[in-house]
Amino acid sequence: MPLELVTVPCLADNYAYLIHDADTGQTAVIDAPEPGPILGALNAHQWRLTDILITHHHDDHIQGVDTLRAQTGAMVLGAAADTHRLPRLDLALDEASSFSVGREFARVIAVPGHTIGHIAFHFPESRLLFTADSLMAGGCGRLFEGIAQQMHNSLQKLAALPPDTLVCSGHEYTASNLRFAATLEPDNPKLISRSAEVAASRARGQPTVPVPLQVELDTNPYLRVHLPAIKAAVGLPDADDVTVFAEIRARKDKF
Ligand code: ZN
Ligand code: FE
Repeated sequence: MPLELVTVPCLADNYAYLIHDADTGQTAVIDAPEPGPILGALNAHQWRLTDILITHHHDDHIQGVDTLRAQTGAMVLGAAADTHRLPRLDLALDEASSFSVGREFARVIAVPGHTIGHIAFHFPESRLLFTADSLMAGGCGRLFEGIAQQMHNSLQKLAALPPDTLVCSGHEYTASNLRFAATLEPDNPKLISRSAEVAASRARGQPTVPVPLQVELDTNPYLRVHLPAIKAAVGLPDADDVTVFAEIRARKDKF
């Protein structure tokens, strides 16, 4: 049985995610922006929290960790590289680590760029990928600590996963990300139709995540920096992919 996935809106525009293994009853949350909505979702499903998986140290991803741990006794897992700035970890992770939620094994993927210690969680059997502020729906996180080369490498690792993988990212930034993408590829038909779908979802108050990786490959400019059309769109037809990536990220910062 694949893991059950529940998207939990938190704060103004954050997402936490619950994954639940029906066979064992184990339930994990990926990121804890605030405890209230997560406890509410656990309660609504009658699930008991067993694991708290942290993607990176920013407040809007960890503020709820201590309360959740105190109220549920869940184990806390996060990047070994960031133990000095994360809540106390029961298990410190790097790319060599594997752990499981219920019967399903998870892989840890280092995705530096937004922060140096940022990690993503991949559940290959259920085809779930938790990316927080690395690969985001229609975009990627700002480069607060890393450089373009690092974020590009990180996103390339994610882009190589099976295209039917569901990408679960950390924020509702999709509409703005796609508006920016349209400045680069105004005639991309898949981008045009995705933008319309996202506008309709937002008008209904629905999340625009998760998203199949294939949709990101077709419309997310940061995964398309190798394409001649994207290079030309930023006036760098002969530049290497990293240079194009850096230019796109810099333009988005001012968008
Ligand atoms: Zn962040
Ligand atoms: Fe964030």
